[in-house]
Amino acid sequence: MANDVWVYIEHKDGGISPMSFELLGIGKQLADGFGSNVCAFVIGDKVDDLAKEAFAYGASKVFAVEGDVFKGFRGEAYAKAASFLMEKYKPEAALFRGTSQGVDVSAAAAANLGFGLCTDSIGLAIDGGKLKMTRAAFGGNYSVSVVNEKAIPQIATVRPKAFAMPVKDASQNGEVIKESFSLAEADLNTKVLEFIQSEVAVNLIEADIIVSGGRGVGEDGFKVLNDFAKMLGGALGASRAAVDSGWIPYEHQVGQTGKTVKPKIYIACGISGAIQHLAGMRTSDCIVAINKDPDAPIFKNASFGIVGDFKEVVPKLIEKFKTKLNK
Ligand SMILES: Cc1cc2nc3c(=O)[nH]c(=O)nc-3n(C[C@H](O)[C@H](O)[C@H](O)COP(=O)(O)OP(=O)(O)OC[C@H]3O[C@@H](n4cnc5c(N)ncnc54)[C@H](O)[C@@H]3O)c2cc1C
Repeated sequence: MANDVWVYIEHKDGGISPMSFELLGIGKQLADGFGSNVCAFVIGDKVDDLAKEAFAYGASKVFAVEGDVFKGFRGEAYAKAASFLMEKYKPEAALFRGTSQGVDVSAAAAANLGFGLCTDSIGLAIDGGKLKMTRAAFGGNYSVSVVNEKAIPQIATVRPKAFAMPVKDASQNGEVIKESFSLAEADLNTKVLEFIQSEVAVNLIEADIIVSGGRGVGEDGFKVLNDFAKMLGGALGASRAAVDSGWIPYEHQVGQTGKTVKPKIYIACGISGAIQHLAGMRTSDCIVAINKDPDAPIFKNASFGIVGDFKEVVPKLIEKFKTKLNK
């Protein structure tokens, strides 16, 4: 049990996304290095389906806290349960995805336990018997390695898609350890009155294709880019300049003060490639830049560059893709 690597499995009202199990792959690699096991920990009102999936993605054990109070995500309650489990079992490391839920639970749990937290890790390795977490700093210009010398577990949030998804094997099984950790409404300072779904359903973090616009596309340009993104089954991103201009809500912003994304294809239209924008998308698998300035810095980071006015280039691309995709 000591030296085990734990992965927090997030869910929304029991709904399972395969990406929730993403960290079990790197967790297994680290556990092999420690000579231990990768385990999942889940919190919810019913956790059996989540546990089954966690085994299929490589967990050898699942530690769970169940209860009515955990129906629906509640940061405070989930963090208390996560703190309880981590304090009781003291795994070597506890990994959370760097999503809003993962960051919420990990930060509050680390504070409850008085431990450190390395956020937005993009590299995880074992160094001198300790977990070494690497994260970007100063807008992505430097990387910093963090080792927590004292606290066990070392807690990290990990940038989504920074590591490969483990292969699913539905035949795998394991042990579920359900802990009784009761929490009453009176123990909580907050109450969820209602969930209001954001009007803009943006899932930039999970998207495989992102079409993103900057100051160069103007407000009307975003309508064209939205059509392009929809046709490709992708999401719509934006630079801060476009967000600050009020052309598109903040939820779409990519970059240092926006979201960090790693799609298979990132199409940057009318975006110059400022360091703060690159910090959020430079690790995309393939970057296509469309810019009318041949000297725009974005081209230095692009896999493919198209020098031209997006108003001419994008409609042509849409036509080509329509034909190719039979749309
Ligand atoms: C602390 C801090 C945090 C920041 N965080 C972020 C962040 O999270 N995300 C972010 O994006 N920025 C961030 N910024 C801002 C960043 O520095 C840049 O100002 C911003 O990224 C520029 O946005 P842009 O590329 O859309 O605009 P610009 O730099 O103005 O570039 C517009 C580009 O469009 C091109 N263009 C113009 N017309 C056309 C056309 N018709 N067709 C094709 N190309 C055209 C131009 O050649 C130019 O390259 C941050 C800044 C600071 C100081």
